[in-house]
Amino acid sequence: SRERKVAVVGARAVGKSSLTVQFVEEHFNESYYPTIENQLGKTVNYKGFEYSIEILDTAGQDEFSMMNQKHLIGIHGYVLVYSITSRSSFDMLKIIRDKILDSTGQDQIPMVIVGNKSDLNLQRQVSQQDLKDLAQEFGGCPYIECSAKQNEKVSRAFEIIVGAIEEQQNPT
Ligand code: GDP
Ligand code: MG
Repeated sequence: SRERKVAVVGARAVGKSSLTVQFVEEHFNESYYPTIENQLGKTVNYKGFEYSIEILDTAGQDEFSMMNQKHLIGIHGYVLVYSITSRSSFDMLKIIRDKILDSTGQDQIPMVIVGNKSDLNLQRQVSQQDLKDLAQEFGGCPYIECSAKQNEKVSRAFEIIVGAIEEQQNPT
């Protein structure tokens, strides 16, 4: 079957829910409803095939609350989100990725690094070079800057993860 499960992870308030809702339901909400975990589905066309994507929008991770089994079992790929306005959210991604790799015991699991809130360039704390360097450190992981608010590159981010999952399952 062409069912794929993707988890959206990262620090709190980086825009995990906003990206997911923008992608699935095509709208943006300014108000913040923290720590709610949610699952949304969307059909995606990739290279002429229809994929049914289940997106697990996690409540967010920090030093006190990391991912649990639900975020690690049966997940085909990860969207690692930080906010370009938060250095600490960027630094958190290394911890999250280590947890994923440790827990799954895999050394290759599809991921994309997403720098969200690209519309807030004046408040930027993470440069595009920092993002490139992290992607390199993550073994040439794909990466993109997005704005859930302006619906900028959001669907591209999800296409990248679907593509990375397909590439791993059916290498060309
Ligand atoms: P989550 O905790 O990671 O799920 O974060 P949310 O999606 O709930 O977003 C946290 C806050 O950031 C909310 O007030 C959103 O409106 C805001 N936000 C999310 N994405 C963007 C974005 O791309 N640009 C701007 N300016 N604000 C955003
Ligand atoms: Mg959320």
